[in-house]
Amino acid sequence: MAIQQQINKVIHGIGASPGIVSGRAYLVERYKVRLPQKRIEPSRVDEEVERFLKAIEEAKNQLKEVKESILDPEVRQHAFILDVHLMILDDQMLIQNTIDNIRKRKVNSEWALDLTLEKMDSAFKTIEDEYLRERRSDLHYVSARIFRNLMGKKHDDITKIKGKVIVVAHDLSPADTLQMQLSQVAGFITDIGGKVSHTAILARSLGIPAVVGLEVATSLINGGDLLIIDGETGEVVINPTEETSKSFFERRKRIKSMEREVLKYASLPAETRDGVRIHLQANIEMVEEISSAKSHGAEGIGLYRTEILYLNRKNLPTEEEHYQTYRKLVENISPGTVTIRTLDIGGDKFLDGYQKGNEMNPAMGLRAIRFSIRETDIFKAQLRGVLRASAHGKLKILFPMISGIEEIRRAKAILEEEKKGLAKARIPFDRGVKIGAMIEIPSASVIADILAREVDFFSIGTNDLIQYALAVDRINEHVSYLYEPLHPAILRIIRSVVQSAKNAGIPTAICGEMAAVPSYVLVLMGLGLEEFSMHPIAIPKVKRALRMVRAEETKTLVERLFQFSTPTEIKRYVRKWMAERFPEEFFKLIAEDLKT
Ligand code: PEP
Ligand code: MG
Repeated sequence: MAIQQQINKVIHGIGASPGIVSGRAYLVERYKVRLPQKRIEPSRVDEEVERFLKAIEEAKNQLKEVKESILDPEVRQHAFILDVHLMILDDQMLIQNTIDNIRKRKVNSEWALDLTLEKMDSAFKTIEDEYLRERRSDLHYVSARIFRNLMGKKHDDITKIKGKVIVVAHDLSPADTLQMQLSQVAGFITDIGGKVSHTAILARSLGIPAVVGLEVATSLINGGDLLIIDGETGEVVINPTEETSKSFFERRKRIKSMEREVLKYASLPAETRDGVRIHLQANIEMVEEISSAKSHGAEGIGLYRTEILYLNRKNLPTEEEHYQTYRKLVENISPGTVTIRTLDIGGDKFLDGYQKGNEMNPAMGLRAIRFSIRETDIFKAQLRGVLRASAHGKLKILFPMISGIEEIRRAKAILEEEKKGLAKARIPFDRGVKIGAMIEIPSASVIADILAREVDFFSIGTNDLIQYALAVDRINEHVSYLYEPLHPAILRIIRSVVQSAKNAGIPTAICGEMAAVPSYVLVLMGLGLEEFSMHPIAIPKVKRALRMVRAEETKTLVERLFQFSTPTEIKRYVRKWMAERFPEEFFKLIAEDLKT
């Protein structure tokens, strides 16, 4: 059923990755195919079987074509997933069962295949082997393609698109995103998701504008509609009039010129007016982002998320692969430091074959360090790679999602074992390599005084800390209005963590998205923080803001903030405080996050 065409319709979501772009909508309908269910005459059974087999053949050809058209070697290494899908298209259970359904039940192919899927789904649920059980999602992906062939729908075959498109999806996982031909993608928009979902973080990493949590995008937008998206304000316009387009592009021009202006600050020292030196580092997920980190003025890499090394592949990265990757990082960022975070899989990032598919609450499930401590072989391979790379420059190790002392001790013990092994084999590594704990679970913040005795540094992950402290799912658009970095509870938690670390004589950094927002950084400075890690493009903005204030006055600002009881009051006050100090244009550029 075609959706009525919208004209100049504005819908609002959550700005997830900045930038204003326009392009034709490209609908990825993976999760949303409405199936026609029809009974057929006995005389038409053979014809229907033919139709089904033809749809399978078509699907094979389409996948082969997609595979052949991937030229980018980076993307190509993920192409094995297409082979898995091709294998599924040859699966006899899938084919025979559907044909049987057509013949015996006298139903159309769509219905028959749906029945097969239902049956296979329940069979999948009983499979012990997790890897096989996880193939269920591939089965659904492939089936969606067959359904669309049967129904004559257009495919999400992005290689066929001329010019850049805006991908419109109900949901996109980081793995889905990486499988796309990114050179064809001008922007992403999704129905679900929040600002700090990993897909949003990845979009920022890739520099692709994105709006998430639109709720109605896939139901209002038709493939081919002209869209304008603003990844800062979260606005999406469907089939804009010329006038609307003009006003967006004027805004884009203004922002771009402001950004060019701000970029001049990239190479200046991150120093406040009263001479306090602040350390700004970059969060990156790919080695290729190092040049962007440097050109935006990062002193080092404060957070290297290692998950991408594990995504979209059927085997695990080897120790050698880890080593080569991290070595490249330390060598390229020298004389700066790189902080490698060990695998943080789970939550909204899944590892092929290893994820507990049935977790009711994956964010609170077998995630991050919990997974590493359980799958020690995977953990050890990574640790050996990290340790070996530590011989080539300044490197620190960061353990994610620490919830208690026993966990950090276990992680440290495994690290010690690997150190011993390397020493015995006379393989060089930095024997004094510093280790840190992410403070992103409330329990860790409460016991920060004891935890501080176990590690060399803390890194506060506000993305998760806010999620767990306020009980607000970071990827759920329905509760995103409650996701408040300036919530009085968050400010109190951070203040107490910083104090505990100071008492113990260890440094604390912030590596959550809060560190990328100038107004929050000023508040965090007032709370005693001097080290921030953020996506590279945010660095010049943050630098410019902190160079305009005195560290002393941020302390006074924070004292005042502790007298307020609600995030709204706090935001209002910070907004006023900044408006008094910053030139209007710059204030406008950075005030978006303080909207009340
Ligand atoms: C965080 O939780 O703040 C963080 C930096 O880690 P991630 O976003 O990868 O969970
Ligand atoms: Mg986290």
